[in-house]
Amino acid sequence: MWTWIIVGIVVALAVLLCFALAVASFSFDNYKDKLEKLDSTRNSFGILTLQYVATINSKHFGGRLKLAKCREWQDHYSTGVVALSEKTMQSNSLASLAIVSHELGHARQDASGDTLKKHWKMRRTGRICGFFFLPLIIVGIVLSLLWVFDVLPEIYYIIAGGICFGLGIFIFIFAIILKYKEIKIEKEASVFALVFLREFLTEQEVSLCDDLLKSARLTYWASLIRTLLSWTFLTGKDNMFRLVENNKS
Ligand SMILES: [Zn+2]
Repeated sequence: MWTWIIVGIVVALAVLLCFALAVASFSFDNYKDKLEKLDSTRNSFGILTLQYVATINSKHFGGRLKLAKCREWQDHYSTGVVALSEKTMQSNSLASLAIVSHELGHARQDASGDTLKKHWKMRRTGRICGFFFLPLIIVGIVLSLLWVFDVLPEIYYIIAGGICFGLGIFIFIFAIILKYKEIKIEKEASVFALVFLREFLTEQEVSLCDDLLKSARLTYWASLIRTLLSWTFLTGKDNMFRLVENNKS
């Protein structure tokens, strides 16, 4: 009886692992494919992304949002500023509208509470803690092994080793929680994005944009899975605390 239960658990874990690895490797290509497709689809309203931002800005933000230029593929939102590349600004594609609406979604989050700012603060802390992760784990393991093999037999060494290892694990869990919180924030920004898009686009176009934003979110899940499985060496390397600059989303 117990044998079957254990076999069942192992099989379930193996299936889950395969599924997670499949999601991790599929997500980026899937997003790129959808992005390329929508990048060549013009919106039916005939509006330029720049005009769209200006309209939403004056209607929903009282014109308070500032617009800045950034490099291609680096469109983002940071406190009160929507930064877009020249290509995004001058585009009338559904992809550009979807991306820019998502950034405006972050602007709405920022305007209506402090969740986004708190998250940025946590991410900054996370990035600092991230530097200590590997050294703490290594020191923890080395001290524990030296104690086990009686090289350093005093009890303090195993205690110190345990504390270092524990702190390392704590940082790891913190990274996972932060990534999960980030996904929730990204999801909410995309929900707000669809509200903005509905003011201009047909329901079919909105659903295409929704599809693109969902596939973008899947890359965040992939990042979480890669971090979660990083110790198994089955996945590619992923930064524990995603390399987004501080105070940007
Ligand atoms: Zn975002």
